[in-house]
Amino acid sequence: MVTWMEQNQNRADGCDVVVVGAGLVGAAVAARLARAGFNTAVLDAQGVAGGATGRSAGMALTGLAGHYNWAVGAYGRQEARDVWALTIEGRERLIEAAGRLSVPIENTGSLALAIEDTEAHTLEESATLLQEDGFDVQFELGDPLGRGFRAALRHPADVTVDAGELTRSLLSSEDVSVHERAEVYDLEPERDSVRVWAQGRNVLCSAVVLAVNGYASLLDPYFTDKVAPTRSLIFATEPLDGILLEQPCCADYGYEYCRQLPDRRLLLGGWRRPQPSGQQQDQEPGLGDVMRDGLTRFASHYFPEVETRKADRWSGIMGFTPDGLPLVGRLPDLPQVYFAVGMGGRGLSWAFAIADRLMTLMLNDADPGILSAARLG
Ligand SMILES: Cc1cc2nc3c(=O)[nH]c(=O)nc-3n(C[C@H](O)[C@H](O)[C@H](O)COP(=O)(O)OP(=O)(O)OC[C@H]3O[C@@H](n4cnc5c(N)ncnc54)[C@H](O)[C@@H]3O)c2cc1C
Repeated sequence: MVTWMEQNQNRADGCDVVVVGAGLVGAAVAARLARAGFNTAVLDAQGVAGGATGRSAGMALTGLAGHYNWAVGAYGRQEARDVWALTIEGRERLIEAAGRLSVPIENTGSLALAIEDTEAHTLEESATLLQEDGFDVQFELGDPLGRGFRAALRHPADVTVDAGELTRSLLSSEDVSVHERAEVYDLEPERDSVRVWAQGRNVLCSAVVLAVNGYASLLDPYFTDKVAPTRSLIFATEPLDGILLEQPCCADYGYEYCRQLPDRRLLLGGWRRPQPSGQQQDQEPGLGDVMRDGLTRFASHYFPEVETRKADRWSGIMGFTPDGLPLVGRLPDLPQVYFAVGMGGRGLSWAFAIADRLMTLMLNDADPGILSAARLG
């Protein structure tokens, strides 16, 4: 297949590439494109990092929310190992970028915590498999926090970062034009180019990258059965007197998470479990209340000394694929349109590895392997 670079790349009346979405993934892709010499514009419906990126808890963690033994069963041993290795590659590239841009990184490591015995067994089995596969993890039966968790799996090299700050720094460090409040509503083929129709402007370009995460199906029906928008909610307390958590933690198969920020505010977050089949998430009444109540129960059980009633709250939309892995590819009906969407709850560790795979697809037509959208038909 002819790559977009081989086609009509230097047009005077537009730009080479439009990246739709100014989250961490869009910024990582746009920075790579600009550094490779392509005239690149980024359009976002909100503002830079106005989506999941700027609302995230800032934890760059190894692997997926589902534990490793689950991943081995779901994807196969070699594939699970590749997925974990990719998130480590992404985390290391994030650390490098943050270093280059003077964005602070906290080298805290992280804990995955079991809330019941079955999950503790799952963590133990995962630890054995991970160690056999060469990953640096430590399993501990019992609760290193003394809060009633059953077991912990420590990833010593995980880090935290202000993902919004990193995204803004990335975009301002490169020669990229950024247009905020420019919602894209149509992509129209025009000879061998694409016209991008957005609020207040249209741009003719040789290629488009969709980095719109959980909003993908609003832009193209191709994503309807591939990326499910899923909400995550965070409580942020007032600054606490002391340090409750030295490292970020995930619990309950990753459905709940917590982190104490450098200013000592405690973040407690949770995301919605998949809906029963046939029920659309948006159709469920009182969804916000269900999430808020679940997170309040988690907080009062494990952090009873923390006042969540008056905590600040915010939420954001994540995009989940049926198998939990991001999707990288190009639209079958509009092959000048590439995409990297469906980052789930671990997009910070995926972003830079994904940007790399997307670039090699765009420049060399290289198969994105396990991330390829072809796997979902
Ligand atoms: C509350 C919360 C906490 C989280 N915590 C963590 C965490 O600690 N660690 C972690 O790894 N992950 C976390 N995540 C997930 C993580 O934030 C995402 O996986 C990651 O930010 C995805 O980045 P992205 O650039 O793909 O998407 P986003 O940051 O969502 O960016 C997509 C952008 O596309 C724009 N857009 C959408 N449609 C259009 C359109 N039609 N036209 C123009 N622009 C459009 C949106 O405005 C948005 O800015 C969290 C998510 C939430 C919601």
